[in-house]
Amino acid sequence: MLRLPPFEYLAPKTLADAVSMMSDHGPQAMYVSGGTDLYPNMKRRQFEPKALIGLRGLGEMHAVSNGGGLVIGGGLTLSQVSTHPRIAERYPALARAAGLVSSPPLRNMGSIGGNLCIDTRCTYYNQTYHWRKSLGFCLKKDGDTCWVALSSPRCLAVSSSDCAPVAIALGAQVRLVGPRGERTIPAEALYHDDGMQYLDKAPDEILVSIHLPALEGWRMTYLKLRRRGSIDFPILGVAVALRLEGDGACSDARIVLGAVASRPVLAHAAAKMLVGNRLTPELIRAAAEAAYKSAKPLDNTDMALGYRKRMVKVYVTRALSEVANL
Ligand SMILES: Cc1cc2nc3c(=O)[nH]c(=O)nc-3n(C[C@H](O)[C@H](O)[C@H](O)COP(=O)(O)OP(=O)(O)OC[C@H]3O[C@@H](n4cnc5c(N)ncnc54)[C@H](O)[C@@H]3O)c2cc1C
Ligand code: SF4
Repeated sequence: MLRLPPFEYLAPKTLADAVSMMSDHGPQAMYVSGGTDLYPNMKRRQFEPKALIGLRGLGEMHAVSNGGGLVIGGGLTLSQVSTHPRIAERYPALARAAGLVSSPPLRNMGSIGGNLCIDTRCTYYNQTYHWRKSLGFCLKKDGDTCWVALSSPRCLAVSSSDCAPVAIALGAQVRLVGPRGERTIPAEALYHDDGMQYLDKAPDEILVSIHLPALEGWRMTYLKLRRRGSIDFPILGVAVALRLEGDGACSDARIVLGAVASRPVLAHAAAKMLVGNRLTPELIRAAAEAAYKSAKPLDNTDMALGYRKRMVKVYVTRALSEVANL
């Protein structure tokens, strides 16, 4: 059995208290929401914080309010996000992505804020301490070699969040609060293409809320590929958001691929092909081909690399056909 390392658990009641506790403890502390990503990582000794600052008691992170579009508290559980009537009605792709994460018990514990911040994943990293030690560890934790690409100067671990590609496709912003104040940045800017420094968020900043713009006239979807539909992480996620005019012409488009790199990938060329045109099966096929070219998955997650890459074409075709009702 894998056991958690010892740690002190702190339960602040306000955002200000949480931030001040983090300032007091410094790099020895980490925030935790549902713990469904962090606790398994701690059991494998990828993280050994001396103190955990729990965010579950912060009331201000559990609200859904109107504001432009909708403001969703980062502390909402994935189950709440997937079933909330206003989220499901106005942002069905986000509700669907949240409802496809893992399994019901983990969705009842896991938060949307935690989902946007989960650690990147890799076959050589998501292993026990002894497994990793027997290999000599790797760049991301305790070692100096990347076993996926021996000459790579950086870690290539995979962004595996289901909600991150959707947040980007919907043009969401995230509000971050920390000891140096607060800032709001586009969800797209939250991610770096680096398996170790994958977030543009300091460890002492809390992701307090997700701000979704009003998206009248937009259609959206999220499709996920994984081995076992009952629990697994995505090995490909496709988020699509299109603005369709009355005559059926597409006036804006975003296609975002998850689990193909260390950050969600915007398929710009594919989206550009759609703008100004009505979606036809031929156009969708061409856009799917362009999206396929922008995906460069590596051999460090479940299923064969070639299959995962080929499925980009299939899933983008399916996602675009769904939103265009074709
Ligand atoms: C078996 C299994 C299957 C899974 N399958 C999936 C899957 O299919 N798709 C998927 O996307 N995920 C999956 N997960 C990962 C995880 O369950 C979810 O991503 C979940 O939403 C994480 O949220 P959490 O609140 O539990 O995060 P935590 O574990 O509490 O935190 C994760 C990280 O984010 C930080 N953090 C948490 N909340 C905040 C915040 N508000 N502000 C700043 N930092 C924060 C923590 O410090 C930690 O570094 C799976 C996990 C397991 C164990
Ligand atoms: S991509 Fe390389 S450095 Fe990163 S976790 Fe995997 S083996 Fe380690």
